[in-house]
Amino acid sequence: MKNQVTRMCFICRNTYNKNELLRLVKTSAGEILIDKTGKANGRGAYICKCEKCIEQIKKQKILSKAFKCEFPPAVYKKLCEELIDKQ
Ligand SMILES: [Zn+2]
Repeated sequence: MKNQVTRMCFICRNTYNKNELLRLVKTSAGEILIDKTGKANGRGAYICKCEKCIEQIKKQKILSKAFKCEFPPAVYKKLCEELIDKQ
């Protein structure tokens, strides 16, 4: 039997298969990255690719709030590209 790893989207709180989500991570250095390997160390948050969540993400505030810091515009831009790309 395949071991399904599920994670919760931090916006809609729905649970998805890990590979359907995008992981953001805040490293110990305070840097925010899009973690494509899913293995980076740090405080992570998962986002699903549904329209609703993408809409929420477009309001940058929700990300700054989630990570308790100013969300870097460069990462934000990349994130939007990633999400929209995979719809
Ligand atoms: Zn979601």
